[in-house]
Amino acid sequence: MVWWHEEVSPGIWVGFTGADAGNLAFHVGGDAGEVRANRAALAVELGLDTAPAAARLQFMDQVHGNDVAVVSAGDFAPEAGPTADAMVSLGEPLAVLVADCVPVVLVGARADHTPVLAVAHAGRPGVATSVVPRTVAAMRGQGAVSIRAWLGPSVCGACYEVPAALRDEVAAVAPASWSTTSWGTPALDLPAAVLAQLAAAGVAAQRIKACTLQERGLFSHRRFGREGGSQGRFAGVVHARH
Ligand SMILES: [Zn+2]
Repeated sequence: MVWWHEEVSPGIWVGFTGADAGNLAFHVGGDAGEVRANRAALAVELGLDTAPAAARLQFMDQVHGNDVAVVSAGDFAPEAGPTADAMVSLGEPLAVLVADCVPVVLVGARADHTPVLAVAHAGRPGVATSVVPRTVAAMRGQGAVSIRAWLGPSVCGACYEVPAALRDEVAAVAPASWSTTSWGTPALDLPAAVLAQLAAAGVAAQRIKACTLQERGLFSHRRFGREGGSQGRFAGVVHARH
């Protein structure tokens, strides 16, 4: 169910779900009851069922913007969240939903070891408008003095075909995004661009290398558009578990 899951610092876990965890997004037209059940099963899988009720997994309403919301336990009703493409918390578990865009999970801490956690949704618009550097800045605004980042599976630079004009437009602001598909047409390499943005911000990052379009154990919006099959979103998560 959790495609990749690792304790990245004592008691702090980063994970990315697989398609076998089911669709986790309410907005893609699936059955809401099924999404609710999938989210509940994921919380149990992550060990969040034993946490205080307030420490549930917080999702957001992603709009391909670059707003960063600082969230606390109890800010939102169940199933509600901020309209944003990144969130920062002081330990509350967070989730970002994707199916080709880059899910970015960040973990930092204050000097007194209070965790400063974040997730960001870095699709083409988010990469072009620096949603990830803005997230790093928001974490530092919360006092984070050490930050590391993990990039989950996304469509890769050899698969993400775009019109030449769009490649030029994004590469003008994020040069590392300039790419060519494996069949020789203009493309964008979003994970490369995010890695460059993180490096420029002084944040060490690890990329979990997998292409959503090629890896059938993950959801891909582009593959769904071409082949149909199951429509869904998988999640990048960060949470505490002691
Ligand atoms: Zn690929």
